[in-house]
Amino acid sequence: VTRAEIQIAATVLAEIEAEAERTFPDESGGVLLGYAGIGEPDRIRIREQIGPGPRAVHKSHRFEPDGEWQAEQIAASYAASGRVNGYLGDWHSHPHGGGSPSTLDRSTARRIAGCAEARAPHPLILIAFGEPGNWRLAAYRRGRWRLHSADLTISEVATFS
Ligand SMILES: [Zn+2]
Repeated sequence: VTRAEIQIAATVLAEIEAEAERTFPDESGGVLLGYAGIGEPDRIRIREQIGPGPRAVHKSHRFEPDGEWQAEQIAASYAASGRVNGYLGDWHSHPHGGGSPSTLDRSTARRIAGCAEARAPHPLILIAFGEPGNWRLAAYRRGRWRLHSADLTISEVATFS
């Protein structure tokens, strides 16, 4: 399996940290949007994130997004971006926690990979772990059988090719 090289826009990273702080010490999360390189499926650009939604449930070790709201936002972003920004996967926070995916995180990735509607056979999982003022990010991509650690770099340019 080729290691994924993920670029994330600095603006998206800032939104993730702000949302993780908003619900701290409870979990939050959202959806990652962007695209993979043409002919370079392992080079992935995250250009946008969509938050948890108004009906999301935030607990200290659990988070359930407002899926209906998120689906609307995903469709809107896809249209507004000229069908460029597609669904890549999800992010969520581990308040006071580490960057390793939990058993639930692993099974969520497996479920998304197997969901034809999601059109993401190799979904990303980003985990923002730490506490306010001190967030770190861990990135994973689902391979055929399991999650693999991925490289994550920050791009200062919001729209990058
Ligand atoms: Zn988790």
